Amino acid sequence: MNRSTLSRRQAFMAGAALTAAPTLLIRTHAQIGAPTPPPTGPHKLPPLGYAYDALEPHVDAKTMEIHHSKHHSTYVFNLNRALVDHPDLQKLSVEELLKNLDKVPDKIRTTVRNNGGGHYNHTLFWQCLSNEGGAGPEGALDEAFGQLFKNKEEGQEEFIKAATGQFGSGWVWISVDKDKSLKLETTPNQDSPLLAGRTPLLAVDLWEHAYYLKYQNRRADYLKAINNCLNWSFIQKRWEKLTA
Ligand code: MN
Repeated sequence: MNRSTLSRRQAFMAGAALTAAPTLLIRTHAQIGAPTPPPTGPHKLPPLGYAYDALEPHVDAKTMEIHHSKHHSTYVFNLNRALVDHPDLQKLSVEELLKNLDKVPDKIRTTVRNNGGGHYNHTLFWQCLSNEGGAGPEGALDEAFGQLFKNKEEGQEEFIKAATGQFGSGWVWISVDKDKSLKLETTPNQDSPLLAGRTPLLAVDLWEHAYYLKYQNRRADYLKAINNCLNWSFIQKRWEKLTA
């Protein structure tokens, strides 16, 4: 049957079938791709510890909600999925996994590095933020910062300089080295100082998903805003634990 012999009704039906097709494709794709968390996955999305709007106006509620409930939860999901056939690795904490990537099979190593890193980094990042974190640092931590930077102003400037100098997605850190000194560093992707044998004290996410809705491409403005909501009481306690 060629076009000229189609009746009006047949032409209408053919048109309806064509317009229905994309809907069917989308539905089928969603059914196949629907993420169902593996029931035995040992890693869980930790609660944020404060409301999505707690850091307003510095970090907006929408960004916090998407960042925690979508981005972080996807890292947890993908990490659990990678470990489904590895009961021995399921027993390890995410920190132990990242410190022992050489013991993770080749086939899942990159997935564990990226998604285990994503889970670990975000878990620390949420804890480093608060709407009532107090002023800091104090005591021995203040002295350690004093060895890293001349003063607070220089510290903030150097931190922002390092963070804006990180090309593409990544993280900026203050980490604790083996000799307990502090180190300012950045890492690409979801890598962390753990991979280099250092322990992160303070983490700030530099992926665009952390700031694009409110700050677009202005990473430095986002970092100045983050400086207003650092949870110094958490950072202080973490320092004391790491150096005890
Ligand atoms: Mn992130």
